Amino acid sequence: MQEHIRVRFAPSPTGDFHVGGARTALFNYLFARNQQGTFILRIEDTDRKRYDAKALERLLQGLRYLGIKWDEGPEVGGDYGPYFQSERREIYQHHALQLLKKGHAYQCFCTPERLEQVSKERQKQKLLPGYDRHCRTLDPAEAKKRVEAGERHILRMKVPLDGEITAHDAIRGHITFPHSNLQDAVLMKSDGFPTYHLANVVDDHLMNISHILRGDEWVNSLPLHLHLYNGFGWKPPVMAHLPLILNPTGKGKMSKREGRAPDGRLLPVFLQSFQKAGYLPEALFNYLALVGWSYDDKTEIMSTDELIQRFSLERVNSSPAAWNYEKLEHLNGAYIRQLSVENLTDRILPFLQAAGFRVNRERMIMITPLIQERIKTLGEAPAAVDFFFLENLPDYDYRELVPKKGDRLMALKALEQAKQSLEATDFSLRTVDASLRAAVKSLGLKDAQMFQPIRVAVCGRKVSPPLFETLHVLGRDISLKRIDEAISKLQKAAD
Ligand code: GLU
Repeated sequence: MQEHIRVRFAPSPTGDFHVGGARTALFNYLFARNQQGTFILRIEDTDRKRYDAKALERLLQGLRYLGIKWDEGPEVGGDYGPYFQSERREIYQHHALQLLKKGHAYQCFCTPERLEQVSKERQKQKLLPGYDRHCRTLDPAEAKKRVEAGERHILRMKVPLDGEITAHDAIRGHITFPHSNLQDAVLMKSDGFPTYHLANVVDDHLMNISHILRGDEWVNSLPLHLHLYNGFGWKPPVMAHLPLILNPTGKGKMSKREGRAPDGRLLPVFLQSFQKAGYLPEALFNYLALVGWSYDDKTEIMSTDELIQRFSLERVNSSPAAWNYEKLEHLNGAYIRQLSVENLTDRILPFLQAAGFRVNRERMIMITPLIQERIKTLGEAPAAVDFFFLENLPDYDYRELVPKKGDRLMALKALEQAKQSLEATDFSLRTVDASLRAAVKSLGLKDAQMFQPIRVAVCGRKVSPPLFETLHVLGRDISLKRIDEAISKLQKAAD
């Protein structure tokens, strides 16, 4: 019988929710769903100095935004809880003691001052940073006495000093680690909390995790973890280290902080920033699945269900993947175009409200089709439609009204004719279209020479949604008022 697949996403709530973490969560989720397995969310909150309650909120919110549902974990519970490591201290203490008894760990009484001294000394001697194993050879009976006397101490791992260990990684294949590079890593801190290494291994075992899928930045912990599994006498789960995510240039790990592009645009790296910028969760989900995994060498747009069906560890790449903002934007635009007008409208409305526009849904349903093809993120919507909602257009230079191969008088002539022609219509799309086309002909102008002045007059800028639709939606009063204003702007410019 095939074993039941159990995977976990095990974030430490210490800061913002980085897309790297989201990609790890997503691969675990896809793998679990593909295998009819269980996806567990475990909160690794044993580092009390770095713990941040807001970070936990952002994590849960971010997973919900992406539509990643966990089967066990915070809020939903499960048979293997608690799912917060800070609530499992006794379990770790118990297991730490076992390792000590079996001789795989030792108590270390070195003071922070001594450790500082050691580190300085090692630096001077150009040795790798680390602990000099001073307490490793203490007589266990003596150590026990010191512990009983209440002396402050920590527990360290007794790693083998010679030889090497080879791990098998489902993505990277065999990886060999020489023992000479390993540290006697800390397992329990003096505050009674375990370190990542101990808590992570103990929980993965006790929670029956079958596969560990995590970022490649954890691969150096692998030899320590394997020794811990061996020390406890446990079989380790299948290990799979997901490829690193690199900066868009392909150089260096993807930044932990948000920066700005040379043109001043924000380069988000946190999930909430992508959400704020108006990326659709389904587009981000789709994109994240492609960071280090592919279905074939061409298919890009895949629904969540398709991704679940198609996901496999075999097709996870072993080489790092560069983050690609353009590709994400392109996918997002494609997803935006696929939405129904109602659906897109409902997603745009909060962005318009946040930008301070008082918007009526019915009206927006008329406007949405005009920008659906043009926006790549929901965040672009307010700037694309602002002139529909502003009482007065921001001031613009009269020269904007003047077409490329034309002059002020041509613009004036075009607008005066437009005003006259439009006044005679009922502002339905059909009559607006017919009357303006007839006007172009009667004046003997080129389309652009007639339409640019009108466009700038009603929108305040040269780039806008299709003109006839725009006039139709703006309606008679606003359109004619704005054309009048443009006419007087042009007239004044003569003085
Ligand atoms: N708590 C670790 C993190 O923050 C978990 C690493 C692992 O998956 O083992 O990513």
